[in-house]
Amino acid sequence: MGTAHCGSTLLTLILGSHPQSFAVGELSNLSGFFKSGRPVCSICKETCEFWNHQVTADELQLLIQGLSNQRINPYIPLKLDRYIRFIGGRDQIFRPYSIIFSKLDKTLLIDSTKTVEWISSELELMEFKTGEIESYLLHLVRDGRAVMSSYLRRNSTMTVAEFSNLWLTRIKRERALYERFPTARKLRTRYEEIVTQPQETLRLLCQWLGLDYSPEMLNYWQYDHHMVSGNTGTRSLIWKYRGDDWQGGQVKKRYYSEEAGFNISLDQRWQRELSSVQIEDFRRLTDPYYQDFEWSAT
Ligand SMILES: [Zn+2]
Repeated sequence: MGTAHCGSTLLTLILGSHPQSFAVGELSNLSGFFKSGRPVCSICKETCEFWNHQVTADELQLLIQGLSNQRINPYIPLKLDRYIRFIGGRDQIFRPYSIIFSKLDKTLLIDSTKTVEWISSELELMEFKTGEIESYLLHLVRDGRAVMSSYLRRNSTMTVAEFSNLWLTRIKRERALYERFPTARKLRTRYEEIVTQPQETLRLLCQWLGLDYSPEMLNYWQYDHHMVSGNTGTRSLIWKYRGDDWQGGQVKKRYYSEEAGFNISLDQRWQRELSSVQIEDFRRLTDPYYQDFEWSAT
């Protein structure tokens, strides 16, 4: 869970590099990508072995129906439909995560869809309700100024006031969900800590998830991944490592250039991109919430 541009692709790929886990990416986009004919896997695209072969076309259909909470009978309320299917043992459609697990020899799946709406709706699935699959909530936070800078960079017509309003609404909803989630299965972590103290932060995250920490996880580009959508710059290290230059045209030079090497670095572009007026406006409009998110290197 987190706002857009909070570093979730990076964290997802690092966690997904553990031998016991699989980074499934933003599952909320699976249906849209499939229906529009776009490749489901944002790493291997059309050549994806996992999404094109290991998961059969029928299973993909079931997944899409289950994830989007589609009902078979539009006149029956969803909750009742779930119950009837559960009783009748015909509820595979409402067990999308179980379908994915059945294709893998893994104990942890990472769905990096960050919105409260998606997380809340998925937690209603039978497989979570019955405790068949245990849910863990990871709240990833990042300095609001850095998030604002990313938004404004991509959307030149957005104003600071519009962003502040959006940000405030999101973090309030995130807090509310976090508060009501069982304590042992929730954790909050900072993007800036992952990047500046990767070993310590990942060790803690692994401990919480019951995984043995291995420093090799940080070199996520060395591993196979089959995730749905994600940040292009972060994904590009995988293509670069594999020597695939077919994505080169779309990929920002700062990641793909040879000089950049392979490393995880702190993105602090907001410091030069935002004016002091913009920063002050953001603080004023989001007071006092912004304070908990601000991060300084010192
Ligand atoms: Zn793939």
